[in-house]
This record gives sequence, structure tokens and C-alpha cells, in this order.
Amino acid sequence: MNLLHDFLDLLLPPACPRCGRRISRAERPLCLACQMQLERVAYEGPGRHGFIERIFWGQLPIERATAMCYYHSEETRRMIHSIKYADRPDVAEALAAVWAREALAQGFFEGIEAVIPLPLHRVRQGQRGYNQSEWLARGIHRITGLPVLDAIVVRTVNNPSQTLAGRDKRRDNVEGIFTLNPAPAAQAAIHGLRGRHVLLVDDVLTTGATLLSCGRALCGIPALRLSIFALAYAGELVPDIVDDDVLDDSNAVVVEHHRPDGVSTERLT
Ligand SMILES: [Zn+2]
Repeated sequence: MNLLHDFLDLLLPPACPRCGRRISRAERPLCLACQMQLERVAYEGPGRHGFIERIFWGQLPIERATAMCYYHSEETRRMIHSIKYADRPDVAEALAAVWAREALAQGFFEGIEAVIPLPLHRVRQGQRGYNQSEWLARGIHRITGLPVLDAIVVRTVNNPSQTLAGRDKRRDNVEGIFTLNPAPAAQAAIHGLRGRHVLLVDDVLTTGATLLSCGRALCGIPALRLSIFALAYAGELVPDIVDDDVLDDSNAVVVEHHRPDGVSTERLT
């Protein structure tokens, strides 16, 4: 079997989905250089309330939320595009598995009982042939063994692409487009989630509007506990005021700048 794979690789050398260079099978999903260079979002551990988590504060009761990487570099945009538009859901699965292995060690999955991929509208899924969030969920399942529940919530409106919409428009576009699955076959599973802790999974988080809308639909399940994972964060790179360290000893406001190349803190006096 490996010989066959090696032979196929000779005929059709696989390319790194991030930089486009040829890679060996052992390097997948990304070439070694891209594994080093991927702009990772730091996860500070449960209870540390990173900036991804704070996007949802005041709008949805969230237990934990994080993303794997920043979307902003040309290379990482290429990687996400290959997942969404170039028939490479396997890249989503492999990256999610890389993230899940680390997140598991950091305690991210503590108490989480199931994974729910953000649904596509059935027309969009038919065009694409797959739901990339479902493949992210499969990667998480491979590492954690958590069940993937893909029939709990459905998307009832095939809304237009959000790419060019501003913040307010995005929110209006996606409000109410998800609903708990009304199919009789889904009712037992929905009932079984009462009081449970689920991880909602999506590929790209920009303003959080789509995840918020889907999360609100899920919260129709009594006492549901919700955490969120996105593969990439594509939102604004804005200074982030640190809630529990707003004032340091010199009464200065301390802000964290979350950027693809790391986190820096700045003291505003
Ligand atoms: Zn690469």
C-alpha cells in the first residue's frame, strides 16, 4: 500500500496547501516550513478568557472559545481557500487533528461531550460536495473520540457570501438562519443534549456573527453548555483591553495587541 502511495506521489507530487511547494507524504498536512510559520493563535488555557472568547461575551453564554491560527497572511488565506473551494477537506481534517492533540493536552476538551459542525445550507453543500466544518469535526473526533453530531441544527437560509459585508450587515444577514432540526428523527438526539456541553466548530471566524447565530439556535436546548472552535480568525487585529489587568500598579491601562506574529502588551498612561 505504501509502495502504491509512493508511486502515486511520484506521478502526482502533493503540494503544500499553504505555500504550494511539493511535499512528502510524511510532511502532511503542511510542509515543515509552514508548520513552523503558521501564525498560531495562543490558547492560554481554560479560565484565561482569550480574545476569541471575548468576541462572544454579552451575546452568548460561552464556556470556551478559541481559533487555531490567524487568516491574514497570503499563505494562510491560500490554505483556507484550498479547504473551502479547491476540494481539499482532508486538509481541514488534518489541521483540526493537529490542533485537537495540543488542545487536549491543554485541557480545552475538559467536560466537552460532543462536536457539532456548523451546517452549510443543503444547496451550498450540494454545490461544494462537502461541509468543511464537518471535516474539522472529524479531525477532532480522530484525536478525542468525541461523537460528531451533524443533524442537531440546520441552516434554513442560503445567505450570500459574507466576504464584502460590513459588521452590521453581516449580523443582519445571518440572524435567524439556523434552527434546531425539526425532523422527527433528530428529536431524541436534541433532547439528549439537555444540560450537555458541546463544541461548535466552524472554519473561519470574522466578526463571529455566523457562529453567534448558530449558537443562539443551539441554545434553544435547555441548559446547553457551549464552546466554540474556529480554524482561522479573520477579524480585525485590534488592541484588546485585558479585563483583569486593566490597571497595573502605575494606574496605566494595559492593552494586548494580538497579531499573527505574537502578542505584545502596551501600557497606555
Ligand atoms: Zn508549505
